[in-house]
Amino acid sequence: MKEQTKILQSIPVDQLTGAVSVPIYQTTTFVHDLPGHHKGFDYTRSGNPTRQVLEEVVAKAEHGSTGAAFASGMAAIDAVLRLLSAGDHVIAGNDIYGGTYRLLTTLAHRAGISTTFVDLHDTAAVRKAITHKTKLLWAETPTNPLLRIINISALAKVTKEHRILLAIDNTFASPVSQKPLLLGADIVVHSATKYIGGHSDVISGLVVTKDEQIGKDILFIQNASGGVLSPFESWLLIRGFETLDLRVRQHSENALAVARWLSSCPEVAEVYYPGLPSHEHYELAKAQQRYFGGVVSFRLKRDDIDSASKVVSSTKIFKLAESLGGIKSLIAHPTTMTHASIPVSRHADFGISGGLIRLSVGLEDADDLIDDLSRALNELTLQTHNNTKHEVSIGA
Ligand SMILES: *Cc1c(COP(=O)(O)O)cnc(C)c1O
Repeated sequence: MKEQTKILQSIPVDQLTGAVSVPIYQTTTFVHDLPGHHKGFDYTRSGNPTRQVLEEVVAKAEHGSTGAAFASGMAAIDAVLRLLSAGDHVIAGNDIYGGTYRLLTTLAHRAGISTTFVDLHDTAAVRKAITHKTKLLWAETPTNPLLRIINISALAKVTKEHRILLAIDNTFASPVSQKPLLLGADIVVHSATKYIGGHSDVISGLVVTKDEQIGKDILFIQNASGGVLSPFESWLLIRGFETLDLRVRQHSENALAVARWLSSCPEVAEVYYPGLPSHEHYELAKAQQRYFGGVVSFRLKRDDIDSASKVVSSTKIFKLAESLGGIKSLIAHPTTMTHASIPVSRHADFGISGGLIRLSVGLEDADDLIDDLSRALNELTLQTHNNTKHEVSIGA
């Protein structure tokens, strides 16, 4: 079966009533027949039938043994870090999601877990960072905001040699596009807030493990620390899964059209999209992903905050907001928005500068999206002319 069919087939019809849509079990507790004897559920933090369907759907989609749903992507990432103990060491990409960077450098650090950040393209640097205390390698691909592609199989080769767990944040690719567990990873994490939810209306996170024992450990952490996803929000994610493949396919088609058009714009210095043959990791992206995804970044020739601000506040269809993966297009300015908490001295690691703009290309018609960007970039040209006139008049 193909991806879209497999996902729809993995969502069960309700056994009790035959309901085609998974029922929302909006309950905190479940009746026991006798003390200690129940129908498999006793309390919703520990387990809920709606959440369980979601957890099985994502586990199947990622080819893992166990799925676990959390109240946010950060709660999911935190649960994975709780597999570690004081004294353990983590290696992470030097351009990972800011929230993960913050978690590793503050709460995990306080709990006695140290992290070394390295450029994950440099396998020699990864090997060099490994110590006898290293327990986890944390990677994200494609990366944010430059959409660099990390070779998952190459990392898995290193982690297997050293018996280190490999965790992949698969948020940007989504489960229909990239299957890290099939490439040798041990754990996959999603901010399901993005493509899986898909409609910018639910904050949520998912973990999938390959190994059953690690899966049991994650479910223990989920119940013990309690950051579970509610039944209703679990249902929203199941609904998201039903159209995930279709959406990601269309997001990618629209993003490619936008990226190609941006490449021809005189105002644009560089376009970052793994589906463009000019992208530094185009071949790897083609081999590792089914779709190139809906995020496109570009750098203006006038590489400054003022010019970027002008563009991001001039679009009408692209709404100025953080986040990505929703059906409505968003535009963001990494330097002042998504990456504002990154110290300026580290901006180069992330490839960000004043004139960098990130798009989450939605499901509007690509022609309209291009018109919208065209009008916004024209503002820049108009502004240049006005400035020139202004200078001339001052000079006169
Ligand atoms: C958004 C995001 C997260 C955090 O997820 P939340 O649902 O916002 O907690 C983690 N990783 C990546 C790559 C993200 O884009």
